Amino acid sequence: MRSRLLSVARALRADARITVMTGAGVSAASGVPTFRGADGLWKGFRLEDLATPDAFARSPHRVWEWYDWRRQALAGCLPNRAHHVLASWSLRFPRFRLITQNVDGLHERAGAADVLRLHGSIWDVRCWNRCTASPDQWRDDTVPFPVLPPPCPHCGGPLRPGVVWFGEMLDRDVVDRCLDATCCDVFFTVGTSALVHPAAGFLDHARRHGAMTVEVNPEVTPATSVVDTAISERAELVLPELDAALGAHPLALSTARLRLEPLLPKDVEAAHRLWTHRDVRRYLWDDRIIPRGTAEEVARASATDFARYRFGLWLVYAREEARTPVGFCGLRADGVGAGPQLLFGLYPKHWGQGLAQEASRGVLAHAFETLRLPRVIGAADAPNERSVRTLAALGMRFERRAGHDGLDTLFYSTEGRPPSGR
Ligand SMILES: [Zn+2]
Repeated sequence: MRSRLLSVARALRADARITVMTGAGVSAASGVPTFRGADGLWKGFRLEDLATPDAFARSPHRVWEWYDWRRQALAGCLPNRAHHVLASWSLRFPRFRLITQNVDGLHERAGAADVLRLHGSIWDVRCWNRCTASPDQWRDDTVPFPVLPPPCPHCGGPLRPGVVWFGEMLDRDVVDRCLDATCCDVFFTVGTSALVHPAAGFLDHARRHGAMTVEVNPEVTPATSVVDTAISERAELVLPELDAALGAHPLALSTARLRLEPLLPKDVEAAHRLWTHRDVRRYLWDDRIIPRGTAEEVARASATDFARYRFGLWLVYAREEARTPVGFCGLRADGVGAGPQLLFGLYPKHWGQGLAQEASRGVLAHAFETLRLPRVIGAADAPNERSVRTLAALGMRFERRAGHDGLDTLFYSTEGRPPSGR
């Protein structure tokens, strides 16, 4: 398996067009139930008697019982290592596309961006009556719903799950974007039997366009004999190995959301002062993860050798075309005890501006999605209403108290998960 992994890893060049199509197998390690007993039934019903428009028309309550139960089960499931690797690839590789047949939302919860969901999402709902006041569909995480079927907030009629049922057409736009994604250099089919159309056709499409094709599946499928490389192992084992074979994460300095550039030595000094500040230290982390070296050394490490130093400081630009930075961020990837952390500081004049929020969201998304950090922290001198409002809008926790030299200081952090609305 090792030599096959290495040959695949070699094909994953930084600029390669990489498309991954996933199915149920990628979520198996997250403990996602199959929702069917050994007899293939749920409470005596066949799948075809639950996941169809006819079934819903006959008994919306029964169909919703099934979906509500599945949503409850899924709410307790966490993304596994396969989801996490794919989420980090979605930012590591600028030309990465992710297609999934799963409706469980675990790719998104791992932080993957722009997932092409062939069968919709169990976390989406839409109005059964298609009333004109309601949007096409929207996300609703309520678990469990207090009333079944949940009522449409616009017309009071029943809501339906935002998934594609048997006998329904797939979203044409999604299918087109999937087909577009099959024009790639490397195409993976992961944890799916790839039997069902149009997913079954995507592999052929990719082959015809000259892609290297890879299957990751412990079971033999129709794809096994067709792909260039078949890896007969579970996704949560193969993908992390493949990821490790790619080498240290290059810490993509450019994302769709913001641009990061190495700090100049004078900025490093300012950041270093904040970083090593006694009050910040006490509040945010322990002594052992303070960066060492002169400002020049730190700046050089940030620019050239993050993988070696596991530490960097960057200027943050709100957009690719922006000329002036809105703040800086510093990353310590392997802090002892407190774990990896990102320090984020916004320049005072930008607090409360839309651009600042955009940049802040970008930094947070970067921290959680690319680097998978548990939290982002920071401190600001001379807080005012605007800085407090910005932090509140970002869903950050903050505390205002006397800091350095008795100055009024705002300490902030976010923990565990990205704030909403990114
Ligand atoms: Zn409605």
